[in-house]
Amino acid sequence: MADCLFCKIMRREIPAKIAYDDEKAFAFVDINPQAPVHMLIVPKRHVATLNDLKIEDRELLGHLFYVAAELARGAKIDQAGYRTVINTNAEAGQSVFHIHVHLLGGRAMRWPPG
Ligand code: 5GP
Ligand code: ZN
Repeated sequence: MADCLFCKIMRREIPAKIAYDDEKAFAFVDINPQAPVHMLIVPKRHVATLNDLKIEDRELLGHLFYVAAELARGAKIDQAGYRTVINTNAEAGQSVFHIHVHLLGGRAMRWPPG
């Protein structure tokens, strides 16, 4: 999508610290990290929100979480623990409308989230 920030990062039009890249997904370090490890895992296909996910995208979403777990292993936070989050629309605080999984770790998390 022409105007989408994460599509622009995918096309390398906007720089980011890319942590993972394959034919279906890519991941990069969040510009405003909320934890020592904070990465965003994003499908290459533009999907705006979880509400827009089609039945045929279920595997794609599974892939995003698989990549998140791989990145958590790579960052050595898998045993201590980490959080994976998808914010959907205004009340959850979604600010970029290209679906993304937040991978947060490297510190203790509180529950419930704010
Ligand atoms: P959301 O609020 O939509 O769940 O998450 C969007 C995330 O994208 C935020 O954590 C924000 O810091 C991150 N972000 C926004 N703009 C950029 C950018 O230009 N580069 C990177 N690497 N992250 C960004
Ligand atoms: Zn996009």
